[in-house]
Parts: sequence; C-alpha cells; structure tokens
Amino acid sequence: MEPATGELLVTVGKASPADVAHAANSALAAQADWAKMLPRQRAGIFRKTAAIFEREMEEMAAFIARETGALLFKGQHEVREAIEILLAASSMPLQTQGHVLPQVTGRFNFARRVPLGVVGVISPFNFPLILSIRSVAPALAAGNAVVLKPDPQTPVSGGFYIAKAFEEAGLPTGLLHVLPGGAEVGEAMCIDPNIHMIAFTGSTPAGRKVGEICGRHLKKVALELGGKNALIVLEDADLDIAVSNAAWGSYLHQGQICMSVGKILAHASIAEQLATKLAEKARCLPVGNPATKQVALGPVINQRQRDRVHAIVQESVAQGASLLAGGTYRDLFYQPTVLNFVRPDMRAFKEEIFGPVAVVVPVASDDEAISLANQSEFGLSAGVITNDLGRAIALGQRLHVGLLHINDQTVADDVVNPFGGRGASGNGTSMGGPADWEEYTQWQWVTIKNQASSYPF
Ligand code: NAD
Repeated sequence: MEPATGELLVTVGKASPADVAHAANSALAAQADWAKMLPRQRAGIFRKTAAIFEREMEEMAAFIARETGALLFKGQHEVREAIEILLAASSMPLQTQGHVLPQVTGRFNFARRVPLGVVGVISPFNFPLILSIRSVAPALAAGNAVVLKPDPQTPVSGGFYIAKAFEEAGLPTGLLHVLPGGAEVGEAMCIDPNIHMIAFTGSTPAGRKVGEICGRHLKKVALELGGKNALIVLEDADLDIAVSNAAWGSYLHQGQICMSVGKILAHASIAEQLATKLAEKARCLPVGNPATKQVALGPVINQRQRDRVHAIVQESVAQGASLLAGGTYRDLFYQPTVLNFVRPDMRAFKEEIFGPVAVVVPVASDDEAISLANQSEFGLSAGVITNDLGRAIALGQRLHVGLLHINDQTVADDVVNPFGGRGASGNGTSMGGPADWEEYTQWQWVTIKNQASSYPF
C-alpha cells in the first residue's frame, strides 16, 4: 500500500515458514560453487548489478518514495547509496583474505577468512533498499548465499528490486532468495539449521527475540536496533544553524530513522530561544503527499505508528511538557511537533518515538548534558554543536554511542564507515566498511606440514 494515499501499489506473494526451509536448502546447495568462482568473475556481477541500478534509478527512486511514504530525494538517495554499496562489495572478492602467521616448527601456518554459508538478512521498512543491500551485497561478495526477508510493508524496495537486478546481472540461481513475510518467517530463519547467520536491522523488541532464538540455536547474529539519539547544543552555538540541525535530524523522513534526533539537550541559557525558533520552523514545514513535490514531510508508515506517536505526545503534555508546535494529524500525516521541558520520567524522553517529534530538554551544564544523553538504554548516535571544538571533543568522548558527530546532527551514514550501536541499539556488531569482513566471514586456521610425522604415543 502507498502510505500517502492508501492506494494498492503492488500485489506480491507472502512467504510461509515452510518456504524458509526450501530457500535455505537451495541457497546452501548453490553456495559451494559460488565461493569457488574466480574472484574477478564474482566481482563483475556486483559491478553489473550497480549498472542496472544506475539504469533504473529514476523508476526505482519514484517507487521507493511511494512504497515508503518518502520524498523523491530520499528514494534517489537510497538508489545512489545502494550503487555505492554494490561497488564497494565488488572490491571484496579481490581483497586480502587472511594473514600469514609466524611459523610453528615444520609447518606452514596461516589464517584465512571463510564464508559462513547462508546468511539470513531481515530488514525494516524505513530505508528498505539500503538496509537490505548493506548486508546482502557484502554477504554475497564474501562468498555466502543469502535468504532475504524484507519488511512486508516494503517488499519491492527491500527485496524484489535487489533480486531482479542480481538475476539480470547473472548471479547464479539459488544464491539469493527473497521471502516477504512477517515475524513468523523471520523466526523460522533464526531456527533453520541451513542458515548460519542472521543480519537483523529493526526495532529493539524484535531484535531481542531474534537474539534469543539465535542464541538458543548457537547462530551468529548481528543486531542493528533502535536509537534515542542526543543532540547536545552548547550555549555558544550559532542558534539558526543549531535549529536547522535539530529540525533536519528530528523531521527527516518523518523522524523514522534509527539515527533521528531523539532528544535535544540545549544549554538552559539558549534552550527557550532554540525551542521557539524550532517551533517557528516546524510550523512552516509543509506536510502532505510527497507526489505533489511541495512538501518537506510525508506520511508516517501506518496507523498503528501514528497512534503511538500521538499517544506519546499527548501523555507528555499531560505530564507537563509544553507543546510549541504540531501535536495534530490528518490521515497518516503527522505535523512536525516540538515538545519543550521534557523530563526524564516521560515516554518522550525514554522511548524511540519514530515520528516527527522534536524533544527539547534544557540542561544546566556539560555534566548534566552528558548524564541525560547517557541516561538511555540505547547508544546509537549523538551530535554536539558548539564553536568550542576542544570542549565538544571532551564531551563527545564521554558519550556511550557507536556514532559520534561533532558539529553535526545525528543522522549520517556512508559506505565507508562501520555502523553499529551500543547498549540496546545492538549487540556490539557493525555493518559497512571494514566491519563487513568481520561480520560475514569467520576465521579458519590452517597448518600444512610437508608430511605427517608421529607423536609420542
Ligand atoms: P521491526 O522490528 O518491527 O521490523 C524489522 C524487521 O523484523 C521486519 O522485517 C519484521 O518483519 C521483522 N521482525 C519483526 N519481529 C520479528 C521476529 N520476532 N523475528 C524475526 N523477525 C521479526 O522494525 P520496523 O518498525 O520495521 O523498523 C523500525 C525500527 O528499526 C526502529 O526501531 C529503528 O530504530 C530500527 N532501525 C535500526 C537501524 C540500525 O541500523 N540500527 C536502521 C533502521 C531501522
């Protein structure tokens, strides 16, 4: 369905847990030959897939925008990033794959990275193409087969586009399966013995379940989960720039980004002015169907999510927060909202809202800013805005996050960086850049003697 209009966009099949067993079997059968294929040949398939995305860019971007309720530029961003991810993956088969180790008497001694076998990828609705392909591409490039389960709300952007392009590029049959379905399909992937790792991106509650099941089955699991990201604004910051950063980080894609600004910790001497200016900006941001190309915000993904966002806003106001802008909606279009004087006991402070709500919390000192930033089960991203770089770095070093941005808001990702969070934002894994070898392969130690020799007994 298209969130902006409620129109039916496309009809797709729905996988069952039984389909998982079939897909995993077929993936495992295809994997051995794939891992043996010459590196240059494997690399070429990723370059071709990237070229297909380049060719299809406009059509894909427009559809992604409609399927995810996004502005066109967000759809274009997803395709551009996917191309970069594919090109980075194309270099993996040609990279160094291990270490020669110090020699042990009479043995040649080395360690190499070997594929895991079949990697199961489970992805969310918000940036479905990027969040699927960031695991699919490096997992395949490292020599694995993949079973991909996109979110059922975004099966095309998060699944079929990827399969279609790889198929046209000549990826051998059986190596990549797309199974659109719900939690039951994801759980079947965690259990299936022919799937050797799960790369999961989604909410913390679902991630906990996935982690538990994988733990029970001794399966490697990478969990990239939610966030409640602090943007700290110090009293010397340029206020207009700080407001622009706060608005962008809070409202981009309707706040439905794991790295969205979750709380703005503003020095008390400027907090009121910042909140007032942010509310003025929020009231000027047009909200509506992105197809009109006249809006800054589109719809949230579904009614359940809209109602949750609204309940958090209303509860916060009832508990004493000031509503400076927004707090209303029409259909799935939630007005950009500003809440000031939010306290740590309120849901708006504690929970990931995943909607266009800016949460302002005045702080009296750097110490209080750090304490309130770290007062969270999450630890994904943080930003600090100030003209005093030394103070920002000192402050940043005390924040418990996996992604730290000095003089920037909290939303940023690139093909070169390892992306991962601390605490309830993940389980210590990362995706992207140098982390991909670590995630999608494992060490194998190999020793070779000229000939076998005897032991004392
Ligand atoms: P979600 O957890 O509801 O769903 C994510 C995926 O998990 C979907 O494919 C869903 O079908 C599947 N799923 C749900 N329950 C499952 C279960 N029990 N077993 C197996 N699979 C299951 O998340 P969502 O609402 O689609 O996405 C939003 C969440 O994702 C937010 O919390 C956001 O912060 C997080 N997210 C994290 C990152 C990151 O890299 N850290 C990136 C994007 C989104």
